[in-house]
Amino acid sequence: MKEAVQARPRTAEPDGSARRASATAPAPSAASSPKAAPPAPAGGTEIIESLYAKRIEIYPRAKIGDSLGWFQKWRWAMVWATQVVFYGLPWLAWNDRQAVLFDLAARKFYLFGLILWPQDIVYLTGLLIISALSLFLFTAVGGRLWCGYACPQTVYTEIFMWIERRIEGDRAARMALDRAPWSARKLALKSAKHAAWVAVALWTGFTFVGYFTPIRELAASVARFGTGPWETFWILFYGFATYGNAGWMREQVCKYMCPYARFQSAMFDPDTLIVTYDAARGEPRGTGARNRRERGLGDCVDCGLCVQVCPTGIDIRNGLQYECIGCAACIDACNYVMDKAGLPRGLIRYATTNSLREHFGARTILRRIFRPRVLVYGGILLAVTAALVAAIALRVPLKVDVIRDRGALAREVSDERGAPWVENVYRLQVMNTTEQPRTYALAAHGLPALAIGSEPRFEVPAATTLSVPLRLRAPAEAVAPGSHRIEIEVRAVDDPSIAVREKTTFLGLRR
Ligand code: SF4
Ligand code: SF4
Repeated sequence: MKEAVQARPRTAEPDGSARRASATAPAPSAASSPKAAPPAPAGGTEIIESLYAKRIEIYPRAKIGDSLGWFQKWRWAMVWATQVVFYGLPWLAWNDRQAVLFDLAARKFYLFGLILWPQDIVYLTGLLIISALSLFLFTAVGGRLWCGYACPQTVYTEIFMWIERRIEGDRAARMALDRAPWSARKLALKSAKHAAWVAVALWTGFTFVGYFTPIRELAASVARFGTGPWETFWILFYGFATYGNAGWMREQVCKYMCPYARFQSAMFDPDTLIVTYDAARGEPRGTGARNRRERGLGDCVDCGLCVQVCPTGIDIRNGLQYECIGCAACIDACNYVMDKAGLPRGLIRYATTNSLREHFGARTILRRIFRPRVLVYGGILLAVTAALVAAIALRVPLKVDVIRDRGALAREVSDERGAPWVENVYRLQVMNTTEQPRTYALAAHGLPALAIGSEPRFEVPAATTLSVPLRLRAPAEAVAPGSHRIEIEVRAVDDPSIAVREKTTFLGLRR
């Protein structure tokens, strides 16, 4: 009987790094399998493989040489850029309030000068579509740029690994520490690391909640241990998620939990830029820098540094693997080795599958960026972005809903001279989405001599919705029985460009 095989489990290198079992490696024995092996059929071949891959601790090496690699500098620049924005933005003030605040209780989103209400969900939808299209576009062009440089999982793992290195040391020191029996020093180092991780995680949770609750008020309530149950829950939950994902799970999140890692292959094609090992140049690999050509060797000196620096523990020389997050740490490591060996850089580099196969130059690679798939993604992205920008620029900071009074659809009233009029009653929901109080004037159009029978002006406080009663009247002889289309206009007194016309009906009475 044959069992379905999903993937061969990883095995550990003697140096502690992970490697993929080769296709010729013997299958695990029945004794090591979690299931007891059924008896083999006579003459058949039995293959038993575990679908469970035991996690092998990865100890990525950070430092190669004296300075940071080129791509490592870019990764750190992105860590700084994203974290300065994330941690700093909630503290930014705008018009005496928090510049960015998602006030769920009041159902208002503040984005600098913009206040979005539930009715503005279309802008949020537009923003999500733009984010998704950007991801498609950048993935089609540059592979996993998002994963390697900007994804929160990558960024926080980088921060947590930095803390780990500062406390426990780089790869060799950490491996030695983990192998060593428990001692006071080991306990102190591990405790210090976890304490620092928990502090960063809680600060991250606090900042996250600060996007939904005014962060200065939140800080004051945290200082006196007076946060509400939901605030406490979300600070701890988000903090725990950060601690767990960046401290413990790390590459496991990318490999097993992230859906993007799974579906991105649909966006890849042979012209997508990926981190690749130039096997034609590197193989056959072999140690020693001298007389390589005479010995029939390629440029890979088999130093293993590209594996040692990999945060997901893979060997890029085995080809494109879904575990590769495109961080380019292996490029930096290999370039360092090439420099030392006096060989040209770029044995591992950003390249496309086609460029490796067809030996394209940089110009051809660039030219092939503009292929149909990229043009379609780019065109749609441009159109949606332009539509969203135009919609926000032309947005009127006033919203009006007209609700007919169901209790009194139409009634006859008399004016001061006793003449009969038909009166309809409405309720207006007027939303002032600006940050200053505004006075609005009412007008009605659509029937001859249609007049406002209630207060024609009213004031709405800043960023507030006001319910305004409205009575409309028309001379009875001017209104035929039945329903008539009319428009109610609400206009800001101080700025006529802020005006909204809403359609409704006016009912005439049978006489
Ligand atoms: S193979 Fe290279 S690019 Fe991919 S995750 Fe590992 S170090 Fe990063
Ligand atoms: S770092 Fe470069 S030279 Fe060293 S093993 Fe990796 S590919 Fe080969």
